[in-house]
Amino acid sequence: MTRAPLVALLAVLLALAVVPGIPPFWITLANNIGLAALVTLGLVLLTGVGGMTSFGQAAFVGIGAYTTAVLTTVYGLSPWASLPLVLLVTGFVAALLGLMTVRLPGFYLPLGTIAWGISLYFLFGKLDLLGRYDGIGGIPPLSIAGVSLASPQAMYVVIWLMVLAAFVATGNLLSSRTGRAIRALRGGGSAAESFGVDRARTKLTVFIYAGLLAGLSGWLYAHLQRSVNPTPFGLGIGIEYLFMAVLGGAGHIWGALVGAGAIVLLKDLLQRVTPMLVGADLQMEAVVFGAIIVIMLQTARDGLWPRLVALYTGGHHRQLAVPQADSPLPPRPAVAPGLTRRLLEVEAASKNFGGLMAVKQVSFGVSAGEIVVLIGPNGAGKSTTFNLITGVLGLSSGKVSFDGHVLADASPRQAAALGMARTFQHVKLVPDMTVLENVALGAHRRARAGTLRSLLRLDRAEEARILADAARQIDRVGLTEHLSKPAGSLALGQQRLVEIARALALDPRLILLDEPAAGLRHFEKQALAELLSKLRAEGLSVLLVEHDMGFVMGLADRIVVLNFGTLIAKGTPAEIRTHPAVIEAYLGGTE
Ligand code: ADP
Ligand code: MG
Repeated sequence: MTRAPLVALLAVLLALAVVPGIPPFWITLANNIGLAALVTLGLVLLTGVGGMTSFGQAAFVGIGAYTTAVLTTVYGLSPWASLPLVLLVTGFVAALLGLMTVRLPGFYLPLGTIAWGISLYFLFGKLDLLGRYDGIGGIPPLSIAGVSLASPQAMYVVIWLMVLAAFVATGNLLSSRTGRAIRALRGGGSAAESFGVDRARTKLTVFIYAGLLAGLSGWLYAHLQRSVNPTPFGLGIGIEYLFMAVLGGAGHIWGALVGAGAIVLLKDLLQRVTPMLVGADLQMEAVVFGAIIVIMLQTARDGLWPRLVALYTGGHHRQLAVPQADSPLPPRPAVAPGLTRRLLEVEAASKNFGGLMAVKQVSFGVSAGEIVVLIGPNGAGKSTTFNLITGVLGLSSGKVSFDGHVLADASPRQAAALGMARTFQHVKLVPDMTVLENVALGAHRRARAGTLRSLLRLDRAEEARILADAARQIDRVGLTEHLSKPAGSLALGQQRLVEIARALALDPRLILLDEPAAGLRHFEKQALAELLSKLRAEGLSVLLVEHDMGFVMGLADRIVVLNFGTLIAKGTPAEIRTHPAVIEAYLGGTE
């Protein structure tokens, strides 16, 4: 679904405001929807797209509202002059809280957001400067060139212009280099990290972005309402924003609009209808509201937005054109001429898990343009060795160097920077991102564009180069016809190929594959072997961990055999086939 019809729809809504005779009550509702949609949009990015659940967004709205209230009433600033300061303050607080919370694992992060959601709420109510629980009144309205925007109609235009801008900018962000990194966070982000994404920094970026949108909403709220008090910034409202995000469809930005609209209208309806049904003194609307939310979550857990899209498109995916660009991404500089040393050198590498020596004094190397295979029985230490090389685990002792650089401490990003690209034993793609976007994530560190450029859509030339390169890698692995499909809709064998294409998009010198043939059917294994031979012929080095001896023997230039963490043999397939220690340990004499 393109966003053009949606942008047009919003523009029409905006134009409606100038039609005279619209009941003020509708305008008020529309304003509330717009204010909530801004907060929810940030939450969609944070929670639905980035996988970080926050219950505390209402507090950021409060920070925005109180900051402008104080600046305009105490310090006499004009509302417009206070806006940059509002964004500065909310951004600063979001960065501070983000630094403390985004690294928290699992449910500690949501718990952290609850904690600051509660404490900020009480802070608003306790500070004399903020008028304690009475709040601050007499906030000036917005005005443009001396014309007051005090009326709800005027504010409607301001609010919805900002909503429109925020949605367009956020859409730009999501379909960019930074956006792909954000979307790859949800599964844990370890795959993104192996392609050079700074996970902690990306999380913080989203956190601050969501905070800024909430702060903007608070600024608008303060100048619409002209007074603030702590009530709308409590934890309960924070939870309501989360409902909006989930109900609309937490993975989709336009879901924020649908969710905010649905909840604001539902709450209003209940507040008017329930007293008529059950009597005004019972105040049942909160109970009914909760019950409806639970039912909605039971029946439409992905939210309303995907359903609306399916109605509109009939469930078909849009076929993307194969992207083209004027110029290619710059290739990795060639290895210094005359350099004959090994590309990868593993020297006496050891890894100790508690008392268990998973890898003991293992040494081997990989030269340019060769396929080396690591084999060994289950638990032999193959994956551990692999993780030591790719920086996922730190060495207990020994040394790993690549292209003359010693890998300092465990850092997948350093490995990526040096030109190592990997695939995962358990496929780690972003299932709802297209094949093209998944592969484009592999080119992350070959491009520069940051958050601001992406928001403003100034990254398009570079983005075209990234996508064209990704399309080329997809062609190399023979998946061009699947380019527009969500990666999760492909068969396992194809998903493994997508992972290889993503690795190729890094423009690697060495590609590392952990059991790439596992779960593949016979003809898929043959195709994979052909692909790896082709890559070797193009000068790429390959290190793979493999179980399937048939697959390995025809393909490997050299084989390294591990058993109980120790290297027991290395050599050509022919040498390994007849090596007594290997027959003893691995083949169990079956040959
Ligand atoms: P392989 O990939 O050859 O099957 P692994 O490298 O996964 O073997 O494991 C080697 C040994 O190290 C096994 O005994 C395994 O249980 C142990 N091991 C692997 N990872 C960890 C870990 N994170 N903590 C403790 N022990 C581990
Ligand atoms: Mg393994």
